[in-house]
Amino acid sequence: MNIKITKTGSPKPKPTDESQLGFGRVFADHMFIMEHSGEKGWHNPEIKEFQNISISPASMVLHYGQEIFEGLKAYRTCNGEIALFRPEENFKRLNVSAERSVIPQIDVEDCLNALKELIKLDSDWIPRSNGASLYIRPFIFAADEFLGVRPSDKYYFIIITSPSGAYYSTGLNPVSIFVEENYVRATKGGMGFAKAGGNYAASLLGQKEAQAQKYEQVLWLDGVERKYIEEVGAMNVFFVIDDEIITPELSGSILPGITRMSVLELCRKWGKRVTERKISIDEVFDAYENGKLSEVFGTGTAAVISPVGVLKKGEKVIRINNGEIGEISQKLYDTLTGIQYGRIADEFGWVKHV
Ligand SMILES: *Cc1c(COP(=O)(O)O)cnc(C)c1O
Repeated sequence: MNIKITKTGSPKPKPTDESQLGFGRVFADHMFIMEHSGEKGWHNPEIKEFQNISISPASMVLHYGQEIFEGLKAYRTCNGEIALFRPEENFKRLNVSAERSVIPQIDVEDCLNALKELIKLDSDWIPRSNGASLYIRPFIFAADEFLGVRPSDKYYFIIITSPSGAYYSTGLNPVSIFVEENYVRATKGGMGFAKAGGNYAASLLGQKEAQAQKYEQVLWLDGVERKYIEEVGAMNVFFVIDDEIITPELSGSILPGITRMSVLELCRKWGKRVTERKISIDEVFDAYENGKLSEVFGTGTAAVISPVGVLKKGEKVIRINNGEIGEISQKLYDTLTGIQYGRIADEFGWVKHV
């Protein structure tokens, strides 16, 4: 791929106080963009100033939501290198999402190279403080000017980046979770395994109602029986019961997280008993009653590991591990972030330097 690179003539001032960055509000100087048409395939790859794009109000994405995305981070390691964590997995997953959404496939290698070029150009935007990173958002959307329902012919693939603060400023923070019994995020046969904007639209109301009750996130149950656990918020979820580490098996309605996959690989390497299987919400509450539920945690790129301190289902509220971080959660967090920030040797070959 031959990328046309045009550096901005007016670089923006970089944020000076990284503790104030938050998430997803500040954007680096440049973006990658390419177009697709049925005739030319993917073409016109460009890196240029981060700027507004002009699309028709009839662009198909605005009406029928044909859009997919990815999320990953660039880390500044302790010896000053720039690291990406398993980035090829993100582009492979983008192609899985693309197939389900009838969006054309991208070339994984080309897109990884484009990302590296972009990161190199904006390397000064990668935060330096501990735990902070440059969040990377690749996405593809349908851009045909047409109101009929069919897959689009024209698409844009864009990568934008956003310096983001540490997810945890004061150590791992257990969250309170509301077990959602009314709404579902996705069902088998639907789009749950794809990273598609529409899945997030479907999750907002449940999330809003949980927050109105002072719960931070929602635990999603399966759409058919409302019995088996799927995910927590926009994270995969793990349970430690009687020394067995359990995560819901990939059923079609669960997003196959790269953090999830890495946690499974780490736990297996540590010789722990790890199982991907169906797990019902009743099994979790029963395990709690019997004193066998020791940890619950979410996994995802943003938080890496997010311990669950409180679970509420109907009138029942349980406090896991006294609302404190469990040993396995902490060890996973330390190991994964250690590998990402270069403090721990990467035996798996997960890190790609830019
Ligand atoms: C992105 C995402 C995850 C986590 O995936 P990672 O690759 O670990 O970041 C989990 N669930 C949903 C719904 C997601 O969109």
